[in-house]
Amino acid sequence: MATIFSKIIAGEIPSYKVAEDEQFYAFLDINPLAQGHTLVVPKHETDYFFDLEDNEIAAMQIFTKKVAAAIKRAYPCIKVGQAVLGLEVPHAHIHLIPMQSERDMLFTNPKLKFTAEEFKQTAAKIHAEFEK
Ligand code: 5GP
Repeated sequence: MATIFSKIIAGEIPSYKVAEDEQFYAFLDINPLAQGHTLVVPKHETDYFFDLEDNEIAAMQIFTKKVAAAIKRAYPCIKVGQAVLGLEVPHAHIHLIPMQSERDMLFTNPKLKFTAEEFKQTAAKIHAEFEK
């Protein structure tokens, strides 16, 4: 059965898309720790990030680097933090979170709430920077 992220990539479930190429898809986390919290996923479905092939991890990290740069330009922060958890969704993904302090990386923090319009604008802002 396809993962929820595969359904998002296929457009069967809506998402706030930030960036995409042939291999990877980046979209806003629906329960963000900070405005601009983005998930990067391979279109090819694999549960565990560290089970990805070496070349896929390398390519994913290069794509993620570009997304992180776009997030930082769109939402100025000290640095963009990267995390791999995968405890909830069995489809490998990288979390990118703009950090004002290390506390912003605490996944036990309460999640932020945004309206659909705010999510849309956030995704559009990062996407515009990604395309530059
Ligand atoms: P993890 O698997 O890394 O522990 O957590 C999965 C992440 O995916 C969580 O931060 C959660 O908010 C996010 N997530 C789960 N389902 C959806 C969804 O349907 N849409 C989006 N945009 N994010 C999701």
